[in-house]
Amino acid sequence: MPMSTENLYNLAERLGELLRVERRGMLRAKQLEPVHLATLRYLCACNRFSNSASAITEYLGQTKGTTSQTLKVLEKKSLLKRVADVKDRRVVHFLVTSKGRQLVSEVAPSLALMDACARIEPSDQVGAEQVLAHLITALLQTNNMRAFGACGRCRHNQRRRTGLTEGGSYCNLVKQQLSASENQLICREYQRVDVAAG
Ligand code: SF4
Repeated sequence: MPMSTENLYNLAERLGELLRVERRGMLRAKQLEPVHLATLRYLCACNRFSNSASAITEYLGQTKGTTSQTLKVLEKKSLLKRVADVKDRRVVHFLVTSKGRQLVSEVAPSLALMDACARIEPSDQVGAEQVLAHLITALLQTNNMRAFGACGRCRHNQRRRTGLTEGGSYCNLVKQQLSASENQLICREYQRVDVAAG
């Protein structure tokens, strides 16, 4: 029998609450707010074309003011640094420092979640991951929001091109080479393969 939307909503909300409660405790000890961690996590996951203040604002669905305040706090704590773009000095990129990456690896994913997942059958874990990914994709489409998907699965990503580094590819949108590790990162300009260019 298909699950009702209300049940799904209740479960998703409950899961979010449980994760938030645990995370809040860990962050309080480090004098950080959930939005600080969310920003650091986004910056650890995104590529060099997506680490601007406006991309953070869009991804997290917050105001410019909140993003600006958050970046100031994180910079003051040496968890990130701002770097001017080499081609256009007016453009600023935000990079997570090694101290920031260390903090993210300490709190996410939480030990409690890892422990809970270890008690679930591997096939159920895969199933849960797929369902959640589908749900998030559908919700983003419904809300007409950007997907921020992984570069390697983007329609602009060209892997069959001569002169590429091992495992690397080429972005046909920004016209730049991408390394193998960059293919794993999420991007503001990502477009699904089945979506026509606008
Ligand atoms: S290939 Fe797509 S996801 Fe990757 S950098 Fe280009 S636009 Fe972004």
